[in-house]
Amino acid sequence: MALMITADCTVCDACVDPCPNEAITAGEPYVIDPMKCTECIGAHDDPQCIEECPSACIIPNPDWEESEEDLQAKYEMLHA
Ligand code: SF4
Ligand code: SF4
Repeated sequence: MALMITADCTVCDACVDPCPNEAITAGEPYVIDPMKCTECIGAHDDPQCIEECPSACIIPNPDWEESEEDLQAKYEMLHA
């Protein structure tokens, strides 16, 4: 399941660099591209953006139901 950023985002920029898939772009709020977000599967044990976000505004995107296998496959496609 890709993640998404809610309106509580304070546009601090802390989540952008830690993302292994370059999935996050600036905006108000910042935006996660669901085609690129793998919940960090393939690169890290935990979602790096959630770890770095001081506002607790990153949540699962309910429109993107994906299994762990789906997310791993997405990661491998992005980094092929
Ligand atoms: S969970 Fe990982 S891949 Fe998804 S947006 Fe956050 S840092 Fe990027
Ligand atoms: S770390 Fe959180 S508050 Fe900062 S830009 Fe990213 S989503 Fe917004």
